[in-house]
Amino acid sequence: MKYPGTRPLFAVMLGLCSSLAMAQEKPVEIHTRLVQQAGADKKVALTLDACSGKFDDDLIEFLIRNRIPATIFATKKWLDSNPYGISVIKAHLDLFDVEDHGENHIPAVIGAGRKVYGIPGQPDLLHLQREVSEGAKAITRMIGVTPRWYRGATAEYDAQAVSEINRMGYKIAGFSLNADAGATLRKAAIIEKVKRLKSGDVIIAHMNKPASDSAEGLSSALINSLKQGFIFVRLDQVDMEQIPDRRLR
Ligand SMILES: [Zn+2]
Repeated sequence: MKYPGTRPLFAVMLGLCSSLAMAQEKPVEIHTRLVQQAGADKKVALTLDACSGKFDDDLIEFLIRNRIPATIFATKKWLDSNPYGISVIKAHLDLFDVEDHGENHIPAVIGAGRKVYGIPGQPDLLHLQREVSEGAKAITRMIGVTPRWYRGATAEYDAQAVSEINRMGYKIAGFSLNADAGATLRKAAIIEKVKRLKSGDVIIAHMNKPASDSAEGLSSALINSLKQGFIFVRLDQVDMEQIPDRRLR
């Protein structure tokens, strides 16, 4: 007996299974460090996320006063609402590199209903592409630089998002030392965290929450790092390599 509908139904079920598998894949936090160079240099990178919200003037002024270079990951959303911040950054492009943190701060996970830390991800690939490319265009238009690095909101990604972001020509900017836990840590905790800084580390912190302890904590912490001989570099001057998943410092 022949069942004409069997094959198509089977194919539909197979398709369903593979999209379910994709939807259930757990996003990963990508950890990277600077590619080690010959000799025992003490190079490290400070990256500051400007997700949405405000401009942490105290933090940026501290970096300018102390000539500490940093890489700023800005969203279009943040750029649109912080013209003063833009003017300060643009006046100090010798210190600051600006890279892509997306258009609207949507995590780089794909599939209807998927979330990271409660924040909904992208419904499909097209939306991810828009998030990445509109974020980059905003930086080029408002700051005048062309981003090469991408950091998704929440710094978590699924495999499909990673390969699409790479295909679009961007490298994923992970990190190795989380200094302020999304601008939630108090001053003393930030100082403790940054004490563990090692050569090649990439620090992540935030510059969009001036009411937090991030500026105060980082100001003390980074002065200590300078005294220890660490040299801060920007991501447009170096390359990074992925490090195995492990407990972050
Ligand atoms: Zn962010």
